[in-house]
Amino acid sequence: MKTAKFWHKTDDGKVQCDLCPHGCVIAAGRTGICKVRGIEENELKALGYGLISSAHMDPIEKKPLYHFYPGKEIFSIGGWGCNLGCVFCQNWTISQQFISESTRRAPEAIVEETAKAGSIGIAYTYNEPLIGFEFVQDCARLAKAEGLVNVLVTNGYTRPEPAAELFPLIDAMNVDIKSMDDAFYRKQCKGSLDPVLASCKQAIAAGVHVEITNLVIPTLNDELRLLETLATWIADNLGKHTPLHLSAYYPQYKLKIPATTTGTLEKAYEICRKQLYYVYIGNAWTSAGQDTRCPDCNDTLISRRGYTTKICGMRNGSCAKCSRKIEGIFAERP
Ligand code: SF4
Repeated sequence: MKTAKFWHKTDDGKVQCDLCPHGCVIAAGRTGICKVRGIEENELKALGYGLISSAHMDPIEKKPLYHFYPGKEIFSIGGWGCNLGCVFCQNWTISQQFISESTRRAPEAIVEETAKAGSIGIAYTYNEPLIGFEFVQDCARLAKAEGLVNVLVTNGYTRPEPAAELFPLIDAMNVDIKSMDDAFYRKQCKGSLDPVLASCKQAIAAGVHVEITNLVIPTLNDELRLLETLATWIADNLGKHTPLHLSAYYPQYKLKIPATTTGTLEKAYEICRKQLYYVYIGNAWTSAGQDTRCPDCNDTLISRRGYTTKICGMRNGSCAKCSRKIEGIFAERP
C-alpha cells in the first residue's frame, strides 16, 4: 500500500492528514472524511491509489471546459470518495462511498491507454481527484513526459502546499465554486469557502487554464445577489476572461427540491455577463449561453448543440471577423 504524502504525527503520537483543510486526525484502522486516506502500520496510506471507478473518452466540453481544445475528446478517469459531503452531489454513487475491491491500475497503464485512445490527455474527474493526490501526481508526471495534457475537475478544497506541488503539472482545471456564501458550504457541503477561492487564485498564478462552474440550486444558492458576487469575485481575482459555467441542478442524493428552471439560469446568465466575457449555461437547453461569442464584435466563434461543437468564427486563436485574441487554448493538438 502506497504511503501517503502530506501528514505528520501529533505530539501525542496520532497521525494527522495535511492534504486538505479538514486536517483529519485518524485512529488506527480508520480513514479520514474522504474515506480513501487511512492509517495502516501507524502511517497514513493512500488507500485509493490506482483504484478506478470509471474510465471513458469524453468530450472536453463535458468537464466542462469550453476554452481548452474545444471539440476534442479526453480520456477521463475517476476513483472513489470525496472530502466534501454535498447533499446535492450529482455523482454520489462514487463520491460518497469507497469500494476497495475495484480494479487497481498502474499510472503507466493509464498513460498507455490514453495515448492509444488518441486522447489529448487525461482528465481526473467524476469524484474529487485531489484526495487521490499521489496517483494523480504519478499519472500527471508520466503524461506530461509523453506530451499529453492533464486536466483536473475539482472542488478546489485543498491546502496550498499540495497545490504548489501538483499545479505545475496541470494544464487546465474546472473548479466548482458552489456558492459565495460560507454558510452554504458549511451546511450543505460540510466544508468552507475560503480554501476554494485560494486554490483558484493559486492555479491562475501557476499558469493553469481555469474555468469555473456554479451549480445553481433553487432556493439554496440562486439568489441573484450571490451570483453577482461570484461574477465580481471572478472578474477581480481571476480575470474577466475566465469562463463561468452556470449549471442546472437536478434532484440527486439527499436533495429532492425541483430542478433549476431555464428562467433562473437565463437571469443568472444576464447578471454574470455584465462582468465576465464568457458565461455559459450547462445541463439545460437554452438559446443563450451555449455558443462562444467575441466580446468585442459579438460574432459567433464556436457553436455548440449538446456536445456537438463547431469552431466556426476563429482563426489562429482570434476572432476571424475583428481579430480580437480569444482567451484559452485553441490549438489542434497539445
Ligand atoms: S484528504 Fe481526506 S483524510 Fe486528509 S484531511 Fe482531507 S478528508 Fe481528511
